[in-house]
Amino acid sequence: MQTLTSDGLLDEVRSWVEIESPTQDAAAVNRMADFVEARLRALGATIERQHGTDGFGDILIGRLPGEQNGPGILLLGHIDTVHPVGTLAGPLPFRVEGDRAYGPGIYDMKGGNAIALSALAHLRATGRRPHLPVTVMMIPDEEVGSPSSRAAIEVEAKKHRLVLVVEPSGDGGRITIARHGIARWHLRTIGRPAHAGAYHAAGRSAIREMAHQILAIEALTDYDRNFYVNIGTVNGGTHENMVPAECRAICYSLVPTAKEEAELAAALRGLKAHDPDVQLEVTQGISRPPYGKSPAIQALYDHACALAREIGFEIPGERVAGGGSDGNFTGALGIPTLDGMGVIGAGPHTHEEHLLIPWLVPRTRLLVRLFETLGRPGAAG
Ligand SMILES: [Zn+2]
Repeated sequence: MQTLTSDGLLDEVRSWVEIESPTQDAAAVNRMADFVEARLRALGATIERQHGTDGFGDILIGRLPGEQNGPGILLLGHIDTVHPVGTLAGPLPFRVEGDRAYGPGIYDMKGGNAIALSALAHLRATGRRPHLPVTVMMIPDEEVGSPSSRAAIEVEAKKHRLVLVVEPSGDGGRITIARHGIARWHLRTIGRPAHAGAYHAAGRSAIREMAHQILAIEALTDYDRNFYVNIGTVNGGTHENMVPAECRAICYSLVPTAKEEAELAAALRGLKAHDPDVQLEVTQGISRPPYGKSPAIQALYDHACALAREIGFEIPGERVAGGGSDGNFTGALGIPTLDGMGVIGAGPHTHEEHLLIPWLVPRTRLLVRLFETLGRPGAAG
């Protein structure tokens, strides 16, 4: 990629989008990984491919040297999407309408992955290289919380000086400097079954117990503190003429900092059954820890803003994201993480998902300059 052009970048994005890769379809995700692996090989990267576990696709890592040795930049992206195979031929074909390009995963986050690798390809094609070594890490299961990748991400992050995540940018191109934490909690109540007519008094209702717990848990929500607790699913009972023996519920929570995360965990773990004859089990499911803006993240952000100005555009501001990304894991480990470095657009996870074509070149240039400058004296990182 000698010259960065809108058409060239859009063609590249299209190649990514036209390989559908829903998280649950490991073979499809691995077809995407094959494509990315070929791209990384063409960049001269050393490839490590970790075979998928738990039914997910492979984790792909490509290592590129920098001008300088030592810990470098971890470039994080996910190659899975929420769109099932057939979306491309059905409700969301790749198409261009005015300034917008539509397609499954084009905004979240194949567009970001494509421009990041294009930035690296551009450096190579023009005889340059990143200042710090760059490790490209592509994840197969981000859209379901990265259950099979979290440990590998954390191991890799600790070997790096900083992390760039090319998830979609915020409104109009905002860069993500902090993320709230999210967690799922699984609740189960176990009562005592009985015929609801003949032996009602002998039964202990698991559903009734769960109802008490739901009211107690939802009362923890505190909008002023960005502390949200939602019971999203409830399943219980087997027949209307039976006192229900079992009930399950899933709680989804969002908290702003580690302090509230600990507070919520203590509250949920401390729940007691209302009825002493009913058992209550509370277990934590998939979670993403919160992280805040550190001085190092501020420095990275300021540096990115200065580079954008040199290129000729303004970063419209920073954002604290409510949703999670793999940046939660690296940010929470204290590794300076700049997220939302991907494309500008809207409609993630919908059939309106699109990116804004005029921003492809400026955002790719920004990544080129970050790779070139991060780690240099006077620059951040
Ligand atoms: Zn994403």
